[in-house]
Amino acid sequence: MTTIQNCLFCNIIQGNIPAAKVYEDEDVFAFLDISQVTKGHTLVIPKTHTENIYQTSEDVASQVFARVPRIANAIKQAFHPAGINILSNTGEAAGQSVFHLHIHLIPRYDHTDGFNAKWVTHNDDYDTNQLAHIASDIAAHLN
Ligand code: 5GP
Ligand code: ZN
Repeated sequence: MTTIQNCLFCNIIQGNIPAAKVYEDEDVFAFLDISQVTKGHTLVIPKTHTENIYQTSEDVASQVFARVPRIANAIKQAFHPAGINILSNTGEAAGQSVFHLHIHLIPRYDHTDGFNAKWVTHNDDYDTNQLAHIASDIAAHLN
C-alpha cells in the first residue's frame, strides 16, 4: 500500500488521526464520515492512496467497490434506512474536498433527512441521434 504523508485519509488509515472505524482488511478501510449527513454515513476508501476515480487502477477500484455491498448491507441491518445513496465526488467542482478516493454510503431515511440528490431531468433535450454522438465521443476514448 502506498500512503501519502500529508493526506488526511492516509493518516486515518495509519491510526495517526482517530476515526470511528466500521471495517478494515488488507486493502480497504471504512469509517464514519465526521459530518454525518445522515446516521450511519460511511466512507469506504482504498489503503493505497489514489486521488480520485480518474487516477484509480482497475485493481484498486475492484477492491473498494467489492466491499461496498457488504458494508451497505451492514448499514441496512443496523439502522433500517429506506434506501442508500452511494457516490464519489470527483474534482472540486463536484464537491470533492479530500483528495483520497472515497465512496460515500449515505443511508436515506426520508425526504427530510438532510441529503438532497435531486437533479433536473432533461429527457427531451437530446434526440436518439444526439445521444448516439455523445456515446461515441466517450467510447472513442475507451481502449
Ligand atoms: P468529499 O467532500 O471529498 O466528497 O468528502 C470528504 C468527506 O470527508 C466529507 O464528507 C467530510 O465530512 C469528511 N471528513 C473531513 N475530515 C474528516 C476527518 O477528519 N474525519 C472523518 N472521519 N471524516 C472527515
Ligand atoms: Zn491518501
